[in-house]
Amino acid sequence: MSNLRPNTLRESRHPRSAELYQRACRVIPGGVNSPVRAFRAVGGTPLFIARGAGAQVFDADGRAYLDLVGSWGPLIAGHAHPAVLAAVTEALGRGMTYGAPCAAEVELAEQVVACYPAAEQVRFVSSGTEAVMSAIRVARAFTGRDLIVKFAGCYHGHADHLLVAAGSGLATFGRPSSAGVPEAFTACTRVLPLDDEAALQELFQREGARIAALIIEPLPANHGLLPQRREFLTRLRQLTSEHGALLIFDEVISGFRLARGGAAQLFGIAPDLATFGKVIGGGMPVGAFGGARRIMARLAPDGDTYQAGTLSGNPVAMAAGLATLALLERESGWERLEARGAELEALLRPALAQASFPVHLVRVGSLFWLSLHEAGAPRTALALSERERARFAALFHAMLERGIYLPPSGYETCFLSLAHSSADLTRCAQALREALAALA
Ligand SMILES: *Cc1c(COP(=O)(O)O)cnc(C)c1O
Repeated sequence: MSNLRPNTLRESRHPRSAELYQRACRVIPGGVNSPVRAFRAVGGTPLFIARGAGAQVFDADGRAYLDLVGSWGPLIAGHAHPAVLAAVTEALGRGMTYGAPCAAEVELAEQVVACYPAAEQVRFVSSGTEAVMSAIRVARAFTGRDLIVKFAGCYHGHADHLLVAAGSGLATFGRPSSAGVPEAFTACTRVLPLDDEAALQELFQREGARIAALIIEPLPANHGLLPQRREFLTRLRQLTSEHGALLIFDEVISGFRLARGGAAQLFGIAPDLATFGKVIGGGMPVGAFGGARRIMARLAPDGDTYQAGTLSGNPVAMAAGLATLALLERESGWERLEARGAELEALLRPALAQASFPVHLVRVGSLFWLSLHEAGAPRTALALSERERARFAALFHAMLERGIYLPPSGYETCFLSLAHSSADLTRCAQALREALAALA
């Protein structure tokens, strides 16, 4: 696309980032510690971030951007919120890790249990990936079954048996979606399309007695934002219950963001197990999984299911999570985030209506996605065409030039925080109008 400028031109705007990236590529595979950060979907050099403050990030070259990535979800209070910083600093002064129980773990667990009724007990880990791995292990132990069902387009971290792509056909055996994952590891994973009750029904009829758990992001937010019909989620609850399988809500993004009680509260559906991450750590590495006491009781040391972690329940990380939840409660965070989202939607819709190509806004609370699908925003994992991807790349760079940092992929959801002000949202809409006009 003509508006996609050559990389060299962009690099001249970001010489420090370009230099750091070159150095990084020598010592870190692809120059990054998580692939999406490398800007491969949009081209150009990834920005190296030197500092974050409130709703802004500052790159290594000193440029400021309105941040719509929010570290991919954790930063619900914005960068370096004074209350979170104070709690973390205070905890740091008491040492960084003990490898023994501490009060902060109990306090955060009590908070999670109070917020999320389906979680009678909770255990902390250090990432969302670990939370999901552990939830699946305990689900298998509890049911004495092996099969796991997931949905195409839902992301549950990078555990082997979940790095699975749908094969051809509807209810399929999973194929490994990554090298290094043996077929044998994914042989116990089934992949279904979202929003397809017939495929779901058919799979449960065929293999229901062997299914340990069905896992879903109740608001899928890792292949764009794909809000599901309530009837579909209700059907998942019914079928899993009928067949003695567990329903796992992966609330790593939605938990403590959409509502105090996550997507489960929003939809009024109680899962058997839930996984958390991102917001619950307030920017520190924390994951958690929880569920009914009778299921969680299977975990060691009481039960026969092993699960552990050197830094699990880390006191500094617990302090960040506690401060973030306290802030959300104190400042009516969830109501304010919904209001912010609605305000942004009202500003963006007229701008998008002027675009020379289709751009669809999908928003739920403080999450939103610009879908460039010509056929309309999908409800299932639908790939972007080459032309649609090129448009996203051009839009991304046009926004970056105007000081707005969107996630660097057309499949990624944008995150608002409590730090985004009305002025920030107005600036975002203005930049979008200009960017779309420049791309016309
Ligand atoms: C981010 C994410 C994960 C993985 O969490 P990590 O902390 O990156 O390991 C799992 N599930 C969902 C829904 C996520 O968005």
